[in-house]
Amino acid sequence: MFKSYKPTWMVDAIYQITPEQLESHGIKAILTDLDNTLIAWDNPNGTGELFDWLRVMDQAKIPVVVVSNNKASRVARALEKFELDYVARAMKPFSLGIRLAQEKLNLPNDQIVMVGDQLMTDIKGANAAGVRSILVKPIVPSDAWNTKINRFFEKKVMSQLLKKNPEMDWKRGI
Ligand SMILES: [Mg+2]
Repeated sequence: MFKSYKPTWMVDAIYQITPEQLESHGIKAILTDLDNTLIAWDNPNGTGELFDWLRVMDQAKIPVVVVSNNKASRVARALEKFELDYVARAMKPFSLGIRLAQEKLNLPNDQIVMVGDQLMTDIKGANAAGVRSILVKPIVPSDAWNTKINRFFEKKVMSQLLKKNPEMDWKRGI
C-alpha cells in the first residue's frame, strides 16, 4: 500500500546531487519540484547555493526542468532569474506534469529523475510515471497551509516505509 510513496533515494538537499552521481546511474536530466525543494516557499529569491548548483548542472549539460503544481504565473515569476524550463499545474501525484516534462526532454524513463520534498505529491507522481525519484528535506521547516495537511499524512506514510524498508536513509548523494 505504501510502495507508491517510496523514493528511490533520500538526499538532504538538491544541492548535494552532482553530475557524477547522476552519470553513475545513467541519469541525463533532472525534473524538480519548485517550492521547498529548489527555493524556500516563502522566499522565492533563491540562494547563492542554488545559482552555483544550476551552473554546475548547466556546464555538465544536464537539463533541469521544474515540475510544479503551482500556477504558471507564480512559477514563471519564481524562475525569472534562473532561466529554467518548467511545467506548471503539474497535477502531482498524477503523472501528467512529469510526462509533459519528459516530452520536452525526449528521454526515456530510466534517464530522468524526479526530485521533490513531498512523498504525497513528488514521489508518488514519480512512481506513477515510472521514473526514479529523490526525496529531499524541505528547505524551510514551515509550509504553506495546503502542504501542512499533506505533511500530517506524510509522517504516517514515512514511518510505515521506514519500518518496511530499513535500508532507507538520508544520504549526502545518490
Ligand atoms: Mg515542494
